Amino acid sequence: MQRPTTPDDALAELLAGNERFVTGARIHPHQDAERRAEIAEAQKPFAVVFGCSDSRLSAEIIFDRGLGDLFVIRTAGHIVGAEVLASIEYGITVLGTPLLVVLGHDQCGALQATKDAKAGVLDPPPGLLPIVDRIRPILDDTAAAGITDPDEITAAHVRSTMEQLSSGDAQLAEALAAKECGLVGFTYRLQDGRVTIVQ
Ligand SMILES: [Zn+2]
Repeated sequence: MQRPTTPDDALAELLAGNERFVTGARIHPHQDAERRAEIAEAQKPFAVVFGCSDSRLSAEIIFDRGLGDLFVIRTAGHIVGAEVLASIEYGITVLGTPLLVVLGHDQCGALQATKDAKAGVLDPPPGLLPIVDRIRPILDDTAAAGITDPDEITAAHVRSTMEQLSSGDAQLAEALAAKECGLVGFTYRLQDGRVTIVQ
């Protein structure tokens, strides 16, 4: 399996891997001792995946990939902070990865906690506020737009994260603007394991 070098090829590889996962036809690539030895000196992943930390959202499993394929950063609710930006920037500009993925999902605990806090049924402990406070504006915006479908709210949250990543002042934003690296958002459905591209 050749390493994808363009955004389109990297996207196609991820979608193909997800299809194998969904249909129960995983081939578990790059998970053996040969691969381990091959990449011990240097990594050359083909996608940076920034997703939610949810334990049901393991990138290498849902895209049927292995060692050295994906550069993965995860935070609860895919909340962006300085370390996240630096990690993504490393994956894109230093490792030369051709695709950046934002991976959200249904039944997200971070979104639900924020929804509950907004409704007044949950008083989040101060330690969770960096997450809740960052998601709240998205819920405010979707509510103002009359959006109630949970899937649409999930997609709006992914879109918001994509905008944050592409509007920063770092090299990352430049690389995305210059199309050296592609940017795609996925929502993942826990029940069937399928990712859908966020338009
Ligand atoms: Zn989540």
